[in-house]
Amino acid sequence: MPSLIDLRSDTVTKPSPAMRRAMAEAEVGDDVYRDDPTVNRLERHAAQLLGCEAALFTASGTQANLIAIISHCQRGDEYIVGQTAHTYRYEAGGAAVLGSVQPQPIEFEDDSTLDLDKVAAKIKPDDIHFARTRLLCLENTQNGKALPLPYLAQAAAFARGRGLKLHLDGARLMNAVVKDGVAVTDITGHFDSISLCLSKGLGAPVGSVLAGRGEFIEEARKWRKMVGGGMRQAGILAAAGLFALEHNVQRLADDHRHAAMLASGLASFTELTVENHPAQTNMVFFRCDPSRAAALGQFLAGRGILVSAGAVTRLVTHLDVSGDDIARVLQAIGDFFAGAAA
Ligand SMILES: *Cc1c(COP(=O)(O)O)cnc(C)c1O
Repeated sequence: MPSLIDLRSDTVTKPSPAMRRAMAEAEVGDDVYRDDPTVNRLERHAAQLLGCEAALFTASGTQANLIAIISHCQRGDEYIVGQTAHTYRYEAGGAAVLGSVQPQPIEFEDDSTLDLDKVAAKIKPDDIHFARTRLLCLENTQNGKALPLPYLAQAAAFARGRGLKLHLDGARLMNAVVKDGVAVTDITGHFDSISLCLSKGLGAPVGSVLAGRGEFIEEARKWRKMVGGGMRQAGILAAAGLFALEHNVQRLADDHRHAAMLASGLASFTELTVENHPAQTNMVFFRCDPSRAAALGQFLAGRGILVSAGAVTRLVTHLDVSGDDIARVLQAIGDFFAGAAA
């Protein structure tokens, strides 16, 4: 039986033997006392990498974004965010529920930016009727697309001019860095805070980091404790994150190459429409008739290939997917459309 190919997300990767060894051998201490040398090393490393004064290891990206929002905003404040942004749509309303911070979502443009004129129109006047608009959140990559660099400079100047803080949900920031071939700080330098997932394409089993100014991170550390993120001998997990940052960044180019192969292979099928050919980073989206997509999903599962099939199906490449796997996936999809039995 050939091995399983899981294209549902880049969160499904399993730690490699070398990463597990780094975890097993990690020096640890109680991180709530700030005694864990491996967590401290990860936080210093991440701060330096992201060009920030300080960084904080968090349990997840959701936790990193939540504590970023509630560190920037007070109760009754507002953040402006993309309608389909993770920090609005996919974090269970945490900023509103736990932070009493109101989201003001607006539609993303096709290039995954938020139009700054539309943002400006949503900033609330200084008036007792309104929440205080405090923060603008961007996402990079967003749906597999890297934000244009000139836009980042415009957004930063805009935020400064309007007295807003600027947060980057950089769950897949490194995919954008590798895709654009730029220095990390060419992107992060525009933001007041940045979250980065270690557990997506970078391949760690758990964890994210939040980075920003020293004072901001101290505030975030208090909120992290409140939301249950004060972990003890967390160096076991931080070691995986350090390993990921040290070994798994440049290889994201392989994932991007595999996604491009997948997108160009899929583009030859008339039964579906590839939404993003050529693929920019590690995601491919295709549209096809929903009942056909469901049948395709089942067919692929029979071939040991997992996808989340729907009206739009997203395929995500990652470090547990090889070039041969891409060929196997394209072959299987071809067989399905040719009417083969699973
Ligand atoms: C995955 C993801 C997060 C955080 O997710 P966790 O599963 O909580 O680590 C945040 N933003 C984006 C864009 C993501 O894809």
